[in-house]
Amino acid sequence: MDKIKVAVNGYGTIGKRIADAVSLQKDMEIVGVSKTKPNFEAFMALEKGYSVYSPSEKIKKMKEAGIEVSGSIEDMTGKADIIVDCTPGGVGEKNKPMYEDANVKVIWQGGEDHELAGFSFNAIANYEEAIGKDLARVVSCNTTGLCRVLYPLDKEFGVKKARVSLLRRAADPGDIKTGPINAIVPNPVKLPSHHGPDVKSVMPHIDITTTAVKLPTTLMHVHIVNAELDKECNEDDIKSLLGGQSRIKFVGQGVSSTAEVMEMSRDMLRPRSDMWENCLWEDSVSIYNNELYFFQAIHQESIVVPDNIDAIRAMMEIEGDGTQSIEKTNRSMGIV
Ligand code: NAD
Repeated sequence: MDKIKVAVNGYGTIGKRIADAVSLQKDMEIVGVSKTKPNFEAFMALEKGYSVYSPSEKIKKMKEAGIEVSGSIEDMTGKADIIVDCTPGGVGEKNKPMYEDANVKVIWQGGEDHELAGFSFNAIANYEEAIGKDLARVVSCNTTGLCRVLYPLDKEFGVKKARVSLLRRAADPGDIKTGPINAIVPNPVKLPSHHGPDVKSVMPHIDITTTAVKLPTTLMHVHIVNAELDKECNEDDIKSLLGGQSRIKFVGQGVSSTAEVMEMSRDMLRPRSDMWENCLWEDSVSIYNNELYFFQAIHQESIVVPDNIDAIRAMMEIEGDGTQSIEKTNRSMGIV
């Protein structure tokens, strides 16, 4: 069978990781990535062997800077079976007419509204619903992390209600423009935050409310999860359920902070020190007054990458079983 031709529009934090993950799959290949600026990422994309495309008005400037440009973003779109749009939130929406003209399938990221695709995806929660779809949106890093824990909890014990506080990193490590650098910022001040409704875009029946603050850190987000469950269970039941999920990693053994999670990912020789799994502190799993509590850390730069790979497989109908796709993706990326 021919490999699925994937193009990545927007080769930044998320896009470059998705391009590398696609390249690891036996059933798909990268036919192009797009860059708007002739920076180190553009040169490194060429070094990796990716064909680089640019907006037509920028091709001249890119070529003058020494980037070998293969054509316009429209040219790239025309070569692909499916586009993974990883442009900044809000920009992806503007690309929709171009994708419609090319009659190509599209995956957007969590910075776009649910309504743009009309379908929001998380591999463990709704893989089967994505099969054959033309448009999808892989939910944001925080929503992906929440779906990965709430879906199995709901399936096994029933989630009566979930209340989550999100401690959000202020910026990604490579971002020199965003703050705060010395403050804790309620964000948004008006409660609740958008993250609860975003979880409901995947699992509409879940009663979830979220609040969020931004912190002066770049490494990871941390979630303080509190849930009431329908069925009675104990801490061991929760640990055995969540510990059995392939994209949830229990941490302990002296890992007491996001800094140590990142050190661990470096020790694991993960590319770019990525941590594709939710990192859940096993010792934090507690049942108190019949309510469940735990902490988990979310690596915002990489957690959505395996879910994008599964979304491609579902939409292109090359794997009808979500468990099989998750296993293929995990094996190729080294998620064990
Ligand atoms: P980014 O700024 O790191 O990368 C975006 C890339 O798109 C940049 O290389 C930029 O030059 C390029 N770009 C800008 N305008 C373009 C255009 N018109 N055409 C083609 N390329 C263009 O952004 P990111 O963090 O990778 O975010 C991408 C998407 O992923 C957003 O929807 C975001 O909300 C979502 N997301 C981000 C994170 C995160 O923490 N970084 C996590 C999950 C989801």
